[in-house]
Amino acid sequence: MSTPATARSVALNGLEGSPVEIEVAVGAGLPRTVLVGLPDTSLYEARDRCRAAVASCGLRWPDALVTINLTPATLPKAGSHYDLGIVAAVLAAADLVPRERLAGTVFMGELGLDGRVRPVRGILPGLLAAHRQNLTRCIVPAAQAGEARLVAGMAVQGVSRLQDLVELLHGRPVPDPLPEPASGSDPVPASADLSDIVGQIDGKWALEVAAAGRHHLFLHGPPGVGKTMLAERLPGLLPDLSVTEALDVAAVASLAGHDLADQLPTRPPYADPHHTASVASLVGGGARFVRPGAISLAHRGVLFLDEAAEFSPRALEALRRPLELRKVTISRSSGAVEFPSDFQLVLAANPCPCGLAGTPGANCTCPPHTVRRYRDRISGPILDRIDIQQNLAPMSRASLRLAARTPAEGSDRVAQRVAAARERSGARLQGTGWTTNGEVPGPYLRKSLPLPDGFDLLETALGRGLLTLRGVDKCLRLAWTIADLQGRSPRADDVRAAVGMRRGDSEGVKVA
Ligand SMILES: [Zn+2]
Repeated sequence: MSTPATARSVALNGLEGSPVEIEVAVGAGLPRTVLVGLPDTSLYEARDRCRAAVASCGLRWPDALVTINLTPATLPKAGSHYDLGIVAAVLAAADLVPRERLAGTVFMGELGLDGRVRPVRGILPGLLAAHRQNLTRCIVPAAQAGEARLVAGMAVQGVSRLQDLVELLHGRPVPDPLPEPASGSDPVPASADLSDIVGQIDGKWALEVAAAGRHHLFLHGPPGVGKTMLAERLPGLLPDLSVTEALDVAAVASLAGHDLADQLPTRPPYADPHHTASVASLVGGGARFVRPGAISLAHRGVLFLDEAAEFSPRALEALRRPLELRKVTISRSSGAVEFPSDFQLVLAANPCPCGLAGTPGANCTCPPHTVRRYRDRISGPILDRIDIQQNLAPMSRASLRLAARTPAEGSDRVAQRVAAARERSGARLQGTGWTTNGEVPGPYLRKSLPLPDGFDLLETALGRGLLTLRGVDKCLRLAWTIADLQGRSPRADDVRAAVGMRRGDSEGVKVA
């Protein structure tokens, strides 16, 4: 029996990576291959793939008892990315390649039966974890070498065939293959500009306030009024991602199997799942390898639910805890998987099933109880988290004509005001752990920040039952953001404007 050989890889649980050692012993005994170390079904398939791949490149799988041990045994190990490490350790244990070449290198990649090296999910979070364990070299699928290079300080070697791996382990250079064309990547949304939208002054203002304070936003209005166009333009108003945020955004995308090419994202992501989306595609799930859902793909960006009332009650309910905790936990028999889900929510809904209720001059045919039930589909706990509810009305022909002649402000100008407002709120909230007004809880607003002129207005409304305490907090949060956008402290008219935004215009006037 020869000395065992060890290769390193990473087990992924959500964004968390843990080191895994693949130890292989080749010894006397009936020729067979045994895998130990709590592997899931996909690892048994790995054994068969590895044997076929080795045979396909003209090498012999050891004609002996091959024991493959993945440690630590207690760690659940899902995924198909252990193939490269398994083959490297088997070849080294059989003295077909020098084993010292395996030291300090992390292996991630799946093998095809024909010896091709296939892309896997989670290269970026896996290598970030490996780098924290002082592993500074990696061998990954050639198609993902760019993604691997996003990890600073990691020496990356891409391989496209098993033969390349064998060459590398012999110390012979393998030319870096040309990057393959991107596959399965989401197209970067075209940079839609706010100036594309004619009129809708109130809607644009609500969007600007939402962007500045990172407030969740609910757009109400009949079809065709521009709700989707507004939502799509929110990411364009937000500041660039920080490097830490970008790494998180990229790591989630990597786990979702998106092609990251070779650069970190700089702009906040945008996810707009359809109302028929399953709960798993919304919050994450999957049979073996747990994939992040839309709420995590929108992490540090915008999650837009169009026709929000059409989403299943289960899907809407599944948003509640992630909205509160900014992360989502998916329970599996093998343990819980956690993904970040710190998204800014934008909901859009028609006022009723036919979409015409409340539109002047239009004929809504929905019975009143249907309209009520339609509005109640978005549950209180979700509405509680939404600071801005904006009604959008169709524009009359005259106002459209007028608006078309007025040059509309572009996204870059608005984004500058948003950035300045964020700087103000960031400075005010320094040391609290929050950076935007949308995150600040009620007690802090009422007790630790100065109360603005006009607060008595809110107190009166509270006393008369026109506002709940939560409503008061929303108004305070919005008043701060409105004032931040003007570069000053909040005043009574900011409070009045906030009341209007919280509940659409008509109801706001009553309170103020
Ligand atoms: Zn209707």
